[in-house]
Amino acid sequence: MAKTPRLLPENPALFRARVVRSVRHTPSIQRVTVTGADLHAFPFLGFDHWFRLFVPRPDQDGFRMPDLDGRRWWPSFLAIPEAVRPHCANYTVAAFRPDAAELDVDFVVHCDRDGEPEGRAAIWACAARPGDELALLDQGCIFDCPPDTSEVVIAAEETGLPGVVGIAASLPRDTVGRIIQEVPTAGDVRELDAPAGVLVTWIVRDETEHDVPGHAALAELQRHVPSDDRGYAFVVGESRLATEGRRHLHRAGLPKDRITFSGFWKHDARQVVPA
Ligand SMILES: Cc1cc2nc3c(=O)[nH]c(=O)nc-3n(C[C@H](O)[C@H](O)[C@H](O)COP(=O)(O)OP(=O)(O)OC[C@H]3O[C@@H](n4cnc5c(N)ncnc54)[C@H](O)[C@@H]3O)c2cc1C
Repeated sequence: MAKTPRLLPENPALFRARVVRSVRHTPSIQRVTVTGADLHAFPFLGFDHWFRLFVPRPDQDGFRMPDLDGRRWWPSFLAIPEAVRPHCANYTVAAFRPDAAELDVDFVVHCDRDGEPEGRAAIWACAARPGDELALLDQGCIFDCPPDTSEVVIAAEETGLPGVVGIAASLPRDTVGRIIQEVPTAGDVRELDAPAGVLVTWIVRDETEHDVPGHAALAELQRHVPSDDRGYAFVVGESRLATEGRRHLHRAGLPKDRITFSGFWKHDARQVVPA
């Protein structure tokens, strides 16, 4: 299998952008299309290319975004006075069209127990209007498949879906393996451009039982036995899917350094897990 590039940016660039449109793409996904004067130069790598998203908070009357210092962006971000500091969240490039300088971002729309949308970024996305300002700080990819990989195993819930769509389309066409993708509703299932040798299993969560996102994908992953110790696994989404999924795969024989796992958010503590 060809080497998949590991490309974290040396000096991450900040892109200023504005909203072109915001539409409900599938029942659980709000797709926001953005553009910007220099967005055609976004160094898109395919796979699960992600970025830090900066949007105004609801209590702010405008968007004030100073330049950030590349890899040392966090201290410069914290130095912004709190009253004007934008909200920051992690998102994946859902699609990129360099000729049109357009980039799509798919926001999972999740609701509280009363059915009200929650999550500052998702609320922003649902209310976004053409011309609204935002910024993106390039972060490169997380997917990092070793060159001698025998099989690729991917498991995710819906927050990992934009990355899984990109990875499936970017994988060398001779890749073999499995994708286990959980989504909230049947309407969120979509066509994946995966290599012929990659088996795609969609799991539609039973929302009537209020199943925690990721639990069904984890149960399916726990039935998977790696064919040898040269596989590569990528497990992302709700924290338990990521950590328990990794534990299972390691116990089943996959070395830890061949498993990429990331808790994108945490259900139990109702707080965000840093990348
Ligand atoms: C590398 C990376 C890439 C990511 N890409 C995407 C992406 O393309 N699309 C996407 O939708 N998410 C993506 N995520 C996950 C996203 O960053 C988190 O869901 C984040 O909490 C959303 O920020 P927020 O400001 O809306 O939520 P916050 O305001 O920080 O959180 C509000 C509350 O909502 C809860 N919550 C957060 N996400 C969910 C959820 N999906 N379902 C139920 N409850 C939730 C939190 O636990 C918290 O209690 C990615 C995360 C990482 C690390």
